[in-house]
Amino acid sequence: MEGMKMGRMIRMGVLGVWTAGVVFFLCSCRKPLPNSSREDKPRTTAERAESAAAVPERSARWNRPRTAERQRERMQMVNRIRQDYGLTDERVLEAMQNVPRHWFVPASQQAYAYLDSPLPIGYGQTISQPFIVAYMTSVLKLEPNERVLEIGTGSGYQAAVLNEFTPHVFTIEIVRPLAERAIETFAKYGYETIQVRIGDGYKGWPEAAPFDAVIVTCAPDEIPKPLLEQLKPGGRMIIPVGSEWGVQELVLVEKDSRGDIRRRSVMPVRFVPLIREKE
Ligand code: SAH
Repeated sequence: MEGMKMGRMIRMGVLGVWTAGVVFFLCSCRKPLPNSSREDKPRTTAERAESAAAVPERSARWNRPRTAERQRERMQMVNRIRQDYGLTDERVLEAMQNVPRHWFVPASQQAYAYLDSPLPIGYGQTISQPFIVAYMTSVLKLEPNERVLEIGTGSGYQAAVLNEFTPHVFTIEIVRPLAERAIETFAKYGYETIQVRIGDGYKGWPEAAPFDAVIVTCAPDEIPKPLLEQLKPGGRMIIPVGSEWGVQELVLVEKDSRGDIRRRSVMPVRFVPLIREKE
């Protein structure tokens, strides 16, 4: 009798140790948290944006999200850009065909997502007209793996179009709620490599520089010096320049291999002004 009791106690003890071992093993096998430790992980989207530069680029996967939704409307939009404006850059037209503009347009504007027109996105800002997005992208002549900086994230649509060409897209937005919404849109649809910073784009993004291309989607009075400095030799910048209510011109800036700057005006435009951060 005693012997049986002893035997059962030993068996239960072995079972207990075995169970504890399995539990410990399972716990230690849990996937490590991405982006180092839990404490380092930013808690809000804003903090995530601010620490974006610190995130190693290889930890994210270059995705070019797709949907068949509203495909026909996109095709009509692209045909208009080709026929009405004579833009024939097939790589850019394909990018415009691929990126669902309606993902970036607020609910109240959904019906108009594929009109060739700028649309309000809140906070007094607008998503640019599709032709302008196509044109500005085209003159940048992006090659695979080039680094591109955008000033004025807005809805995130232009950044998504740039993401069709390269995973190295950096974009800065000064209006925090707009930046946060763009970050959420990128996360929702799986744009993993676009990096967003909240702040004054006038100063560029020195930690991520130099850039092969810079695209500015809000208008300063003069070309910001830091942006010129952060352009690589051989780099291109497209930027609207001029006052809020006066004449604005779209300027193409090219930096040659010796670092000399050439600028030429390509068309009259109307963009929202570049706002400066209060010092
Ligand atoms: N590229 C955007 C269009 C944005 S409209 C899109 O595809 O939707 C211009 C944007 O520039 C606005 O969102 C505005 O808030 C932002 N902006 C204005 N001044 C800025 C600055 N100094 N730095 C960064 N963004 C700025």
